[in-house]
Amino acid sequence: MGSERSEITQPIQPNDSGRPLRRALWVTLVYLGVGLAWITFSDQVVERWFPDPRQLSLVQTWKGFLFVAVTGVVLFLVMWRQLNNDRNSLSFQEDQRRALRRRERQLSVLMNNLPGMAYRCLPDEDWTMLFVSAGCSDLTGYRPDELVHNRITSYAALIDEGDTGTVAREVASATKQGRPFSVEYALTRRDGSKIWVWERGCGVRDDDGSCVLEGIILDISDRKKLECELEAMATRDSLTGVLNRRECSRVLDEELARASRYQRPLALLWIDFDHFKEINDTWGHAAGDLALCSISRLLEESVRSVDALGRFGGEEFVIILPEMDVREAGETAERLRQRVSDHAVVLESGQTIHLTISTGVAVFPDHGETLDALCAAADKAMYWAKKRGRNCVVMAQPGSRVHNGSG
Ligand code: GH3
Ligand code: MG
Ligand code: MG
Repeated sequence: MGSERSEITQPIQPNDSGRPLRRALWVTLVYLGVGLAWITFSDQVVERWFPDPRQLSLVQTWKGFLFVAVTGVVLFLVMWRQLNNDRNSLSFQEDQRRALRRRERQLSVLMNNLPGMAYRCLPDEDWTMLFVSAGCSDLTGYRPDELVHNRITSYAALIDEGDTGTVAREVASATKQGRPFSVEYALTRRDGSKIWVWERGCGVRDDDGSCVLEGIILDISDRKKLECELEAMATRDSLTGVLNRRECSRVLDEELARASRYQRPLALLWIDFDHFKEINDTWGHAAGDLALCSISRLLEESVRSVDALGRFGGEEFVIILPEMDVREAGETAERLRQRVSDHAVVLESGQTIHLTISTGVAVFPDHGETLDALCAAADKAMYWAKKRGRNCVVMAQPGSRVHNGSG
């Protein structure tokens, strides 16, 4: 491939039409000069050496033969060299043509078998396509001729609105700095389905000196799906789908830092299901799982979108409530307690069970200023809720230090 490339890119010598003429004239002049000198001086020499007319005539004849023989050999050598050059030049051109055809064939095989599409487009706001490879149909649902020169739609119209600005900015900045760009964005196909694509390209100078973009676009929907699944696995509880303990701690940390920076309140609810072991023992573990899912869904629906619900372990849940002070947090906790106790969990058998929760409430900065202090205060308040007979809400007390099970 490399040697082929150098073959093709070898510069072709410009056709210097004056050179052959000059050379031909030069050779002819030399021939005339040598011929005239030969006739003039050789005649004088042989006339001096052979005064006998019969001998002179014979020598003149042989001198003629010699001249014809020498010029014949010279003519032969010149013609042979020229024809050889012509033949080499023709075979070089034929090699070049063959290499070009081979390269075109390889390129078209490569283009047609790309997992996505190759393109050449103008850097305008429509991303006007000048060329797209056959993979365009599979990728976008549009045939190449429908997309080229925006015949049916422009490529820009397929890019997700939310990504349009980011793509344009990255392409502009990369082409300005003369580096290749890589962007990922969502694309709407002709049938309305959404896919994720990865595009890599660079700005190149066209024959007329204007800038065009060339690159490839690949479908990365599977990879994106996997990434989302992995992210969900890393941050979500597999049974209930709410935040897992690690993600919950991260969110709480983040919210605490924000609350501290802007001097805003932040509430934390610590929830434990009452007598949950009995649910498992009476209805089975699967019913317990179902109850966990059902109640966590109910809790999630009952809080604001800015709030975060997480499962801290077993049947212990926490709710992070930004911007909530002691009074609002107490009211919210009471509302949730009421909703859970009113809620009927429907088992697969069709039977219904009722559950209650005990909730401890701690508020930043009233009951703690660090993550550990706030969690400990909320956990301790929940313990007191159990102590008070369960199915109730207890607000943390500033300064108290009691832990679950410590009495
Ligand atoms: P209390 O009112 O004092 O909290 O009583 P409790 O029975 O709820 O006691 P505790 O909180 O100590 O028990 C938690 C039970 O939750 C024990 C365990 O069997 C059950 N549990 C923990 N995780 C799961 C789970 O993922 N699925 C099911 N079905 N049960 C779980
Ligand atoms: Mg419990
Ligand atoms: Mg528990």
